[in-house]
Formats: sequence, C-alpha cells, structure tokens
Amino acid sequence: MFDTLSDRLTSVLQNLRGKGKLSDADIDATAREIRIALLEADVALPVVREFIGQVKERAKGAEVSEALNPAQQVIKIVNEELVGILGGETRRVHLAKNPPTVIMLAGLQGSGKTTLAGKLAQWLKKQGHAPMLVACDLQRPNAVTQLQVVGERAGVATFAPEPGNGVGDPVDVARRSIEEARHAQHDVVVVDTAGRLGVDEELMRQAADIRDAVQPDETLFVVDAMIGQDAVTTAEAFRDGVGFTGVVLTKLDGDARGGAALSVRHVTGQPILFASNGEKLEDFDVFHPDRMASRILG
Ligand code: GDP
Repeated sequence: MFDTLSDRLTSVLQNLRGKGKLSDADIDATAREIRIALLEADVALPVVREFIGQVKERAKGAEVSEALNPAQQVIKIVNEELVGILGGETRRVHLAKNPPTVIMLAGLQGSGKTTLAGKLAQWLKKQGHAPMLVACDLQRPNAVTQLQVVGERAGVATFAPEPGNGVGDPVDVARRSIEEARHAQHDVVVVDTAGRLGVDEELMRQAADIRDAVQPDETLFVVDAMIGQDAVTTAEAFRDGVGFTGVVLTKLDGDARGGAALSVRHVTGQPILFASNGEKLEDFDVFHPDRMASRILG
C-alpha cells in the first residue's frame, strides 16, 4: 500500500547522499519534496504540517553527530518523526485484571470488523487465551453466520442470539455474553457490532449502548485504509460518538494510497494496535510503529 510513498521518500532522501554540510536551503528543498510526497499519499494536512515543521526544526538545529553524515542525520530525523506520527511505542492490548477482558469492535460496514474478529480470536488463542466471539451485528444479513464461520475457522466459540427469535436486541446479546463467558471460562470476549455504510446517529447510539452494557476494556475502531480521507473524518465521528481506545487498520494489502489511515493515530490521539493485510485469518499482526516507518522509508 505504501509503495509509492516509500519510493518517493527514498528518492528524496537519496538526493541528499554525498552532500557535505546541508544548508538551510537544502533542508527547505528536501522538506518541500517530503511534504508533496506525504500529501500525494493522502496523509492529512495537519499531520503533514506538524511532521514537516518538526523535521525542518530538528534538521536545522544543533543536532550534530560524529557518527552520521548530514544525509544520514536527516534520514534519522525523518524516521523518528514518522515513528512518532504512527504512535511511537508498540501498544499492547490491555487485559482486564478480572477476566473476561472485553474487546469491542466498532466501525463502518465493510471496514472488516467481522473478518478482524476471527483474526483477533485466532491471535488471542495463539497467545494462550480462551476467547469467545459475540455476534452483536444483527443488522447486516448473514453477519451472524459470517462470524460463526470465522469463529469455527479460528477454532473459537461464538455467542449469538438464538435463531428464530426475530432480529434480537444486540445490547441484550452483549450483556448475556459476558455471563456466558464467565460461566464457560472464556477470558477474552470479542464483541462484533453493526456498522452502516456511513456515519449515522442510530449506529453511534447502538454502539454506545453496547459499550455501556459491556464496559469494554478496549474499544477498537476498525478502519479500512482504502477509504482515503474519509478514514480521518470517520475516526473523528466514532471518537466523538462512541469513543475508542485503539485503532485497527484493515486492507493494508490494497493499492490505495493509505496515508489517511496513517494519520488516524495523530488526529484522534489513539494508538494503532493491529493491522490487517488480507482476507485470510493469518493476514494480521500487531502494529509496530517502528517497523511500519522502516517499511515506508525502504
Ligand atoms: P464488516 O462489515 O465490517 O464486518 O466487514 P467484513 O469483515 O465483512 O469485511 C468486508 C470485506 O472486506 C470482506 O469481503 C472481507 O473479506 C474483506 N476484508 C476484510 N479485511 C481485509 C483485509 O485486510 N484485506 C482485504 N483485501 N480484504 C479484507
């Protein structure tokens, strides 16, 4: 997804190699090129502004290192600032002192929540947990069955409303699932919620009601990295309407520009915990800001 950005940044920084001391004009020219590369990759404007401001200030400042030549110095600064924008340290999922830990997933329809629920469950299982999936997306036809299928694939139990009882109340399902988890000794509960095609009040209200019923330890906002600038506006709407403690980026295997998704951390102040890069359960990993920055810088 970040190939173009990666190529652009690499070539901008490559131009500095072999230069002796960098003048302020060199740094300004480099910063301008980086700015264009970030904007073309769809990184949100406030993020670009801050990033460029920091890079310029630090590159022109008195950071003199014996070990690095001027070009390496700038590359190091760009790398560190990129890691900073992406969240700095890797943020691990918070587990409750008294199980079950409740992880609620929220996001637009099609963002990849149900798929992610399966991925997360499989990952948790590998970490030695006994997770349970909870089907609270009772809006989208087949969402419950889809969750049961990914649950089976991941080898974990799924809690769903009994068939034949009409649509069912997602808040009630969520509440009952916690009792079931205690009873069946599941130490992590992953709650899949309904999304809509766009942000609307009812969607937010339902997600907030589920949140109030289950008091999640983590509410993860799931966002499709392919949706461009909407990633940022949707994140802001979910932050204000439901609130979340972390972000999951999905569809990083796509060929869209993806920079907007990289802005979500900085714009909302919440860390990116996981990244999804394919349709299979294995296409999923903990998000490491330093590794992502290294990947982007080639
Ligand atoms: P939900 O409506 O939020 O529950 O979204 P789904 O989990 O049903 O996913 C919507 C579509 O995106 C499905 O076709 C998934 O197979 C696909 N999908 C989910 N995650 C990824 C991903 O990381 N990469 C790709 N390429 N497709 C994905």
